[in-house]
Amino acid sequence: MTPMHTETLPTSLPGHWLAPEDPGYDEARRIWNGMHDRRPALIARCRDTGEVSLALRHAAVTGLDVTVRGGGHNVAGTALADGAVLIDLGPLSDVEVDPVAGIALAGGGALLRDVDAATTPYGLACPAGVVSHTGLGGLALGGGYGWLARKWGLTCDHILAAEVVLADGTVVETDEDNHPELLWALRGGGGNFGIVTRFTLRLRPVGPVHHHVGVYPLDQAVQALAAYRGFAERQGPDLHAVGCLKFAGDQEWIPVALRGERALFLTATWFGDPAEGPSRTASLFADVRPAAELTRLLSYAELQALGDHGEPHGNRYFTKSCYLAELSPKEAEEFAGIALDMPSRLSSVDFEYLRGAITDVPDEESAFPSREAPYICTVSSQWTDPGQDAVNTDWPRRAIERLAPLSTGGAYVNYLQDEHAGRVREVYGAARHARLAAVKNTYDPGNVLHRNQNIPPTAD
Ligand code: FAD
Repeated sequence: MTPMHTETLPTSLPGHWLAPEDPGYDEARRIWNGMHDRRPALIARCRDTGEVSLALRHAAVTGLDVTVRGGGHNVAGTALADGAVLIDLGPLSDVEVDPVAGIALAGGGALLRDVDAATTPYGLACPAGVVSHTGLGGLALGGGYGWLARKWGLTCDHILAAEVVLADGTVVETDEDNHPELLWALRGGGGNFGIVTRFTLRLRPVGPVHHHVGVYPLDQAVQALAAYRGFAERQGPDLHAVGCLKFAGDQEWIPVALRGERALFLTATWFGDPAEGPSRTASLFADVRPAAELTRLLSYAELQALGDHGEPHGNRYFTKSCYLAELSPKEAEEFAGIALDMPSRLSSVDFEYLRGAITDVPDEESAFPSREAPYICTVSSQWTDPGQDAVNTDWPRRAIERLAPLSTGGAYVNYLQDEHAGRVREVYGAARHARLAAVKNTYDPGNVLHRNQNIPPTAD
C-alpha cells in the first residue's frame, strides 16, 4: 500500500490495509447504501484484535477520524467518512458454536448469515434481523429486531460477553462480572463504547417454521389491517406477524391483476410445533380474504434469507422509522395514503407488532430504550437513479411527519437517519442517556468513536 501521512505513521502497518492509490480500494470502501460515496484516508482491513488496536492508535497518531464497519449496512452510512481511518471488521467473521453450552463466539464483522450458517446445523439460532447480509455488529449493538424477537427477545439481549478494543487501543473482556456497565451499554447503546471484536451470544432452539403470506389489493388494506391488528395483538410469542405495503412482484402465486400494483402483504410465521402451524396462522386471513395466499414450511436459514434479494447492495436507500402506540383505522388509513404516494417501485412501508419476549427483559438490564413500544413502522425508499434522490428522500420524511401524531415519540436507533440535533438523547430518554454518557466517559472520554448515533461523554 501507499500510506498517507508517511511522516507520522508507525513503521509496521499491515500490507493488506488500503490507501486510495491501492488496487481494491474502491471496492473495499463500498457500503450497502449506494448514496454514500466517501473516500477514507485508509481502510484498515482488520484480521485480528491486534490490528483493530493498531488502527485506533494509528488514527490517534495521525490525527485522523475513525469509522467502524461491521457489515456496512447502516442506512445513514456511519461506517464511512471522507478522510477517516475506516476500521473494517469484515475479515473478523468467524463463528464458533458450542452446542452443549448453547453459545456462539462470533467475530465483530460477522454477517447474520455467518451466524446462521454456523448455528442452524445444531438446531440453534441467535435471534437477529430479517436480511442475512446485514452485519451482526451494528445490528446487535443497537438492538436487533427479527423473526424471533417476540419469542426470544432482541439480539442485544443475547450478548453474554464481548471482547472490546477501547478507543485508546487497549483490549477488555466484558461480561456480567467484568466491566458490567460496559456490557449494559453494548446492549443497545450502539458503537459508542469500543470496537467489539468478538461477541459471545446466547443461542436458542429453533426448528422448521410455518410461513403464511397473504396479498391484498391496496383498496382492501384498511380492512385487512384491522384484521391484522386483532390477530397480532392476541397471539403468544410463537407467532410473529408482520406487514408490508409495496408494489407486488410477478411471482407465480400472485394474481396477474395485482402484479406491478401497490399491494398489502401480511405474513404470519409460526415457531411452535409445525403441525399446528396451518391452524395457527389461518385466522389472520379468515375475516378479510386475501387475493392469494402462500404457505410454506421453511428451515430457519431459509426464512432468514427470504428478504435478501429485495434490498441489494449498491442501490440508493433512505429510511425513516417510528414506533406507533397502536394500529387503529387512523394509522391504517395513513399507511394506505403513504403507499399511494410511494414514488419508487422498489420502496416499501413495513410494520410489525412487537412486544412478547422483548418486554420480558427488565428495562434497567440493557441500554435498549423502547421495549414497550407496541408497533414499529419503517418507511424505506429504494431507487437507483441519483437524479431521483430528492423525491425519494422526501417521501419517507413526509410519511413519518404524517404518522408523528400517532407515534410514541421514540425511534429505533439503528434506523435513525437525517435527524435533528438532540434526537439520540430523545430516543434514549434523559436518564438512560445520562447513564450511557457516564459509560462513554469511562471508556471513550475523548469521543474517538463519534461517527455513529453519538452519545458524547458526560463532560461534553
Ligand atoms: P455498519 O454500517 O457496518 O455499522 C454501523 C455502525 O455500527 C458503525 O458505524 C459502528 O458505529 C457500529 N458497529 C458495527 N459493528 C461494530 C462492532 N463490531 N463494534 C463496534 N461498533 C460496531 N435492523 C434490525 O434490527 N432488524 C432487521 O431485520 C434489520 N434489517 C435490515 C435489513 C437491511 C437490508 C439493512 C440495510 C438494515 C437492516 N437493519 C435491521 C438495520 C441494522 O440493524 C443497521 O443498519 C445496523 O447498523 C447494521 O449493522 P452493520 O454492522 O451491518 O452496519
